[in-house]
Amino acid sequence: MPKSVLVINCGSSSIKFALLLEDQEFRIHGLAENLGTPEARIKGVTVGNEPVDIRIPNADHKEALEVGLERLANYKPDAIGHRIVHGGTLTKAELLTDDIIEKIRAATPLAPLHNPAHLVGIEATKRLFPDLPQVAVFDTAFHQTMPEHAFRYALPKFLYTEHNVRRYGFHGTSHAYVSERGSELAGSFKQGGWLTAHLGNGSSTCAIWNGQSVDTSMGLTPLEGIVMGTRSGDVDPSLHSFLAANLGWDLYKIDKMLNKESGLLGLSDNLSNDMRTLIEASEQGNEDATIAIEVFCYRLAKSLAALSCGLPRLDGLFFTGGIGENSAYIREKTMAYLPHFGFKLNKEQNDNLKRGTEGRIDAGTGPQIWVVPTDEEGRIAQETEHVVNEVSQAAAKKFETNVAMA
Ligand code: ADP
Repeated sequence: MPKSVLVINCGSSSIKFALLLEDQEFRIHGLAENLGTPEARIKGVTVGNEPVDIRIPNADHKEALEVGLERLANYKPDAIGHRIVHGGTLTKAELLTDDIIEKIRAATPLAPLHNPAHLVGIEATKRLFPDLPQVAVFDTAFHQTMPEHAFRYALPKFLYTEHNVRRYGFHGTSHAYVSERGSELAGSFKQGGWLTAHLGNGSSTCAIWNGQSVDTSMGLTPLEGIVMGTRSGDVDPSLHSFLAANLGWDLYKIDKMLNKESGLLGLSDNLSNDMRTLIEASEQGNEDATIAIEVFCYRLAKSLAALSCGLPRLDGLFFTGGIGENSAYIREKTMAYLPHFGFKLNKEQNDNLKRGTEGRIDAGTGPQIWVVPTDEEGRIAQETEHVVNEVSQAAAKKFETNVAMA
């Protein structure tokens, strides 16, 4: 059983890493950024809680991890868990074998920005820790239980059968953790029908029935769904041809606009993609910030109402992510658009909930409403431990069978 798990979230020039020690009671975090450039550096906090900012000019992913682990923790992990955005149709976390690495590579057309960066991280950790078990934990895996009527687009069939064009969903690690923890708090562990709203820079909603995802707001890519920091969420698909015909924009420009220049940032006329800044600006009378917040909350409520169709019964809703956990204002505004199904917020409990704490915030008459802080790192570490244990148990069993047959 691994005692310490290194959790890695690798981008093309950055690595977010966390070392979870001794059954997750103890964690260190680090961020290596600008890798491969003269500005490369690692920021983090040591085991002794000392802040660290180390310059590592031109370091690559492997060097950054080496320095980071040595300087922050002086500790070697027992297993490594990689966050992988797109796992195609893989349904659960997997030990990183050559076959699984090939499957991650094969899913690259579906996540061209993320999967190649994850493969760089895998390569680095394999060179650094050739003997350690490594596990891939997929953002998409939790949503593989969606029924076909929820994951198919109304497009010509061959696009699905020959090109894998379907809805996959993302943020699965968070929706899985939050719905599990939330239903446990509600006294019905992994039972009943729940909605989750993960609201951060990227945002998505999910419907969960008896612990399994039955629908979610993100689709083929993480662009579909509700309003995000810089991503548009749902738009009319004819927008592409409209912009091409009327403004002469090419696909690259449209894609960049929808992913990087839209959402809260676009609505607020480039004021900010950060919800705190927008709330402050709105309080001071900025009308662009006010409409950005209003569109965000309205579309979120609309998505939650729509996803409830995936549930035979609605027991409640869990808010999570930076915005969902910390903003009573956004929670209140969203619930004001959702008086249906008997939802009723307890304003005092909502306002009084302290940052980063879990708690119930409904009035006790309709479906429950909870705030449940997410823990994606903890969940990745847990799934990594689970896979490593399963593999070692299977190996032990095979050994026993071989001995018995000898
Ligand atoms: P990521 O998706 O990058 O992990 P987070 O989950 O950390 O992002 O969420 C970041 C968002 O949370 C930002 O828009 C930030 O403004 C927002 N946020 C954090 N604290 C608050 C707060 N007290 N009120 C409103 N928004 C907040």
